[in-house]
Amino acid sequence: MDRSLELSRWLARRAVPAITGLIIVANLFMVGVLILAARDQNAFSAHLTTSFVRERYDALNTRMREISKDYAGWEAAYANLNDAVNTQWAFEEGNFGSTLASDLGIKYVFVLSPEDKTTYAIIDGALSTETADEALGPVVRDLANEARRAGKGQTIPVTATLFDGDTPILAVASVLSTGDNAEEQPADTPMTVVIFGRPLTAEALGATHETDISGLRVERGAEAGATGERLPIATMPASPPAFLVWEPPHPGTRLIWLMLPWIILAAAALGVLTALVLRHALSSAKVIEDKINEVGAARDAARHMSYHDAVTGLPNRAQAIEHLTRLLKDGEHVAALFLDLDRFKPVNDAFGHTVGDLVLAEVGQRVRGIVPESALVARIGGDEFLVLLQKEAAPPVEELCERLIGGIREPIELEACELHIGLSIGIACGPEDADEALELIRRSDLAMFQAKRAGRSTYVRFTPAMNERIRERPELERDLWRGIEAGEFELHYQPRFECRSLRLVGFEALLRWNHPVRGLMQPGDFLELAEETGVIRNLGAFAVTSACRTMAPYEDLSVSVNISPSQLRSGRLIEIVSGALAASGLEPCRLELELTETMLIEDSSVAATLLDQLKALGVRLALDDFGTGYSALGYLRRFPFDRLKIDQHFVADLGAAGKGRAIVQAIIGLARALKLSVTAEGVETAEQLMLLQADQCDEAQGFLLGRPVPADRIPALIRDARDTVERRDHPDAALRSRIEG
Ligand code: C2E
Ligand code: MG
Ligand code: MG
Repeated sequence: MDRSLELSRWLARRAVPAITGLIIVANLFMVGVLILAARDQNAFSAHLTTSFVRERYDALNTRMREISKDYAGWEAAYANLNDAVNTQWAFEEGNFGSTLASDLGIKYVFVLSPEDKTTYAIIDGALSTETADEALGPVVRDLANEARRAGKGQTIPVTATLFDGDTPILAVASVLSTGDNAEEQPADTPMTVVIFGRPLTAEALGATHETDISGLRVERGAEAGATGERLPIATMPASPPAFLVWEPPHPGTRLIWLMLPWIILAAAALGVLTALVLRHALSSAKVIEDKINEVGAARDAARHMSYHDAVTGLPNRAQAIEHLTRLLKDGEHVAALFLDLDRFKPVNDAFGHTVGDLVLAEVGQRVRGIVPESALVARIGGDEFLVLLQKEAAPPVEELCERLIGGIREPIELEACELHIGLSIGIACGPEDADEALELIRRSDLAMFQAKRAGRSTYVRFTPAMNERIRERPELERDLWRGIEAGEFELHYQPRFECRSLRLVGFEALLRWNHPVRGLMQPGDFLELAEETGVIRNLGAFAVTSACRTMAPYEDLSVSVNISPSQLRSGRLIEIVSGALAASGLEPCRLELELTETMLIEDSSVAATLLDQLKALGVRLALDDFGTGYSALGYLRRFPFDRLKIDQHFVADLGAAGKGRAIVQAIIGLARALKLSVTAEGVETAEQLMLLQADQCDEAQGFLLGRPVPADRIPALIRDARDTVERRDHPDAALRSRIEG
């Protein structure tokens, strides 16, 4: 799986952009709020200045009207300016003269006759010849008429903005009258009008620097005041509209400029802080993620381990069972090959587990290399492997087994040595033999067990009879104990002959079980069970004691007794052997104990001591089945053997083409070199015997020369053998006579 946690990637992909976005939005929001507040402030400030300007403008208007009303409604002014202008009174005497300019800021003073002729003019406090028309434009007459209409003979001032060129002038016009006493006159009565004008400037409106209003001015036209604030002011209808225009202060904008650096700074700080926090979060996430992924990896490893064998890396029993269950459920035809190594235990014991593991790994690889890709190879026990084949996809099972056995037989090269092991295979097929995984494996195991019994390095197909045998096992075990109690065991004696002369030299004692139901049973039928259950110790003691007792009377003949591994381990062997010798009176040198290599390897130092002790009793020691075990020369040198027994497999190969004879010759040569005598076992044909004679083998034993017989037939057998030898003094003739006889 790729279940690796991606917290940090998630953070980087999702959380970081989200948080960054959030910060940006928050900042934008802040800026937005600030702008709104600033605009509000600016608007408020504009509103304030508008009120201020309107107030000032209105005040100025009012003031101008008051001045106009005062002067135009003054009886003396009426007397001196209405019909004929008395310049003396007006200007020289200062009643209507320069003080208007100097004290009241009135720049223009015009008196217009009822015919709108300028009869009196003062500009900037000095008498002027300029007419009102010339100074303020013809529109001034409209203003005059307005005053005449408004007043109806009374002094009611009207104001409007006129222009002297571009200079705006706040002009006020009033009809000359006799003041409060003045009679109301009809509108069409010709009337004299007094016009005052003062420039409409910022100073005039009192908009100084302290008032926060800058650029207060008058502009004409509809577009006036495009950039700032404006206030419409009265003009004559004939004139374009005019506005007071000014720049209000912008406290909001100032606020923005004031705040902006701080906001930027705060945003930057927030950004940096967030980045730091995120970085920390990211690295923490990475650590957590690593931890979790480590846990995940450990879990994966554990999962892998729970389905694999650590030594070979192959699937383990659990996986094999799962796989097989699946195949059977899918209705596949499956062959289960149960592989068990021959002679693996001694390797493991002799060289240690490290080497044992190397061997297992090598075997695993070889098996994997031989079976088809689609097959499952599992290690399901110590030296047990299971191969599961889908039959359609596989070569014939028998052919595959041959290849597997051949493949494992090839020596395994290790640094220090070369190892030889073998392979026994049991075959069971699903669904014919069993349609359930465990049962199918069990049956292939049973078949494998039979392959072992059939002499190893071979394969056996499961048969229902095997199942029967296994079912009998618990019963057989009970039987064993009972058999001992009931004295059902006995020894048969197989004669051993001197090879050259065919002189009888002794017997090998071989166990038999007179089973009340099954009949006479061979060691192959019960020995393994006896070994497993410990019954063999009793049987072994019985064999030694019984053999000694039986053979004691036959002077000059020796007796061989087989010793099992567990007897060797029992610690009571010396006691039993010396007891048997003492009880029977058999000379120790006539007793020969047969041991196999396996038991020597198992605990070689203990074995060495024990064998020395046995030798000290005076008995002789033979190494049985030489060549089937480990065949390490070291054992022959290290342990005090007197004899070596060539295994019957080699003897069987003697006549055949191949290396059979060379091997036997080599073993005989080896025994000679080590000063051991040699016995060939399993001699079944005359050819084998002749070859053994030719190769100077010391002794022979086999069905050709004599089968194992019950003890009561020993005397007859001895007699027979003596007769033969005496009758024919030539060995070949003796043989012929034996064979013919
Ligand atoms: P072993 O010690 O190698 O005994 C020789 C076996 O070969 C005997 O089988 C014998 O009957 C058989 N044999 C002899 N000549 C021939 C022949 O020409 N051809 C063939 N094919 N076989 C031949 P058996 O009696 O079935 O014994 C089998 C094994 O059981 C023995 O092999 C020995 O290892 C073990 N055994 C027998 N008796 C005892 C015993 O009292 N104690 C112990 N611990 N093991 C015993
Ligand atoms: Mg033997
Ligand atoms: Mg043997």
